[in-house]
Amino acid sequence: MKNIRNFCIIAHIDHGKSTLADRLLDFTGSVTDREKQDQLLDNMDLERERGITIKSHAIQMEYMHNGEQYILNLIDTPGHVDFSYEVSRSIAACEGALLIVDAAQSIQAQTISNLYLALENDLEIIPVLNKVDLPSANPEEVTDDIVDLLGCDPSEVIHASGKTGFGVENILSAIIERVPAPSGNPDEPLQALIFDSVYNPFRGVETYFRVINGKIRKGQNIKFIATGKTYFADEVGTLKLKQQPKQVINTGDVGYLITGIKEAKEVKVGDTITDAKEPTKNAIEGFENVKPMVFAGIYPVDTEDYEDLRASMEKLQLNDASLVFAPESSAALGFGFRCGFLGMLHLEIIQERLEREFDMTVITTVPNVSYHAFTNKNPDEIIIVNNPTDLPEPSTLNRVEEPYIKATIITKADFVGPVMSLCIEKRGVITNQTYLTPERVELSFDMPLAEIVFDFYDRLKTVSKGYASFDYSPIGMRASKLVRVDILLNAQQVDALSALIHADNAYTIGKKMCEKLKELIPRQQFDIPIQAAIGAKIISRETVKALRKDVTAKCYGGDISRKRKLLEKQKKGKKRMRQVGNVEIPQQAFMAVLKLN
Ligand code: GDP
Ligand code: MG
Repeated sequence: MKNIRNFCIIAHIDHGKSTLADRLLDFTGSVTDREKQDQLLDNMDLERERGITIKSHAIQMEYMHNGEQYILNLIDTPGHVDFSYEVSRSIAACEGALLIVDAAQSIQAQTISNLYLALENDLEIIPVLNKVDLPSANPEEVTDDIVDLLGCDPSEVIHASGKTGFGVENILSAIIERVPAPSGNPDEPLQALIFDSVYNPFRGVETYFRVINGKIRKGQNIKFIATGKTYFADEVGTLKLKQQPKQVINTGDVGYLITGIKEAKEVKVGDTITDAKEPTKNAIEGFENVKPMVFAGIYPVDTEDYEDLRASMEKLQLNDASLVFAPESSAALGFGFRCGFLGMLHLEIIQERLEREFDMTVITTVPNVSYHAFTNKNPDEIIIVNNPTDLPEPSTLNRVEEPYIKATIITKADFVGPVMSLCIEKRGVITNQTYLTPERVELSFDMPLAEIVFDFYDRLKTVSKGYASFDYSPIGMRASKLVRVDILLNAQQVDALSALIHADNAYTIGKKMCEKLKELIPRQQFDIPIQAAIGAKIISRETVKALRKDVTAKCYGGDISRKRKLLEKQKKGKKRMRQVGNVEIPQQAFMAVLKLN
């Protein structure tokens, strides 16, 4: 145990976490040449393309230091706010953290929020000034920023480059010398923290854990405390680039467990593994059931594909425990599913996976957060509104509550004005303003989650010319004035286009939605009136003018091959259209409410 070090890497996105992790593996000889690949830890295709670590992983390295052999367990953390609970559990499995700061970008919001998580868990922080090879690096200034933030000595900040490998040896020495060894008790009943799980279609779910007390053996009968289920440990082992089966994983170490579990949702991150016969009395603190934050309908473009879509969603859920869905129907779109996601990124990933891995073409409806509604009849009973059509009639509605978050934004002092205006426009209330350095300001706001899950981040980047970073955490439900804005096409209400909007913004947004839909809905043989309404009251109107005969006529004649290409293109574009009544609606129209600015 005294030669084990468990650590994670915390960094703002793109500050070089994956590259540096790669270098550590290289330097410790944990990767053979044949296995060498760029960005080893990010091994999902989608993930690689997006340049973000979607699922955390863990890897074990061995390293000789002053004549002694050490085991270094690197626990990777996801780099996106949608997955912040997983980050917190990974951090809870470690004694130390490398805090990586880009020498050109300095400290960003995610650096800070993850640092707070690490400090709450009493982790030893090793600051690393990364990318010192960059011509735009600003090592003195950024070191000062780090020193101000941590209250450490400048000599503790390790200068490094994941690109050239500079400083990697110093980092490894610091991990061994500064991070404390694990301190559990091998004689107590088993208590292991689940910090991640990976779905394997052949072997079932692989559970990644850190042993806090006791030990876990191959063939042991074990129990997961939160789910109450018991299993037989078919295999335990350590995580090298390939899994290494072992007879036992001891106190303080990190490993994987295979029990033949077939569904991702049976393994809950944050749960405690214990012995089935001699269980620990104490579950590890901090367990939470992850709750979806964003809901949207997913419908097949072709109604006949409903059963295929169901089968695909079920398969996706097997390996993505955070995806939830339930059947729903829409007057406009027929049968589909109301799905819950961790955030907009998660929604996009699911949509993309449905298309790539399952070859489904789907329509996703306007996303919304989850509201609590109360009626006059039963003012104490919570009605959970995950779908605009579930909002009770305005006349029966007692009140509505919406989820709020604490937003942390770090920006250059020059942009405080525009950032504040944006947050106020998004119904934010400022709660704190701190100058981290004379140039950098940390702003805290209480804001409705609904205002930030959609386009907030892009707007923030724009108003701050890229010099603002952002992170958030939930702070509970608060009263809200919510209305449902309905859309009528050709005098027919299209339920899948309805959106839940704060009353103060309803008129403006209703108007903008009509304008946007006018842009997006293709012209047809007849006029299509587009109306926005709150209840029976029409608040805005636009018209998509009928196609003039001579315009169609002009398309004919001319170069045959060009015309064929055009037709092919139209066919492809058509795929994502949905016929509602006699109007064709393209996919973008269903998301129009998110793109109004
Ligand atoms: P992550 O999002 O924190 O995992 O960051 P990555 O490791 O994916 O790196 C983000 C980008 O920075 C990539 O384009 C890397 O090639 C680049 N990068 C990472 N480390 C260094 C470094 O030390 N020097 C330079 N010049 N570029 C780096
Ligand atoms: Mg990465």
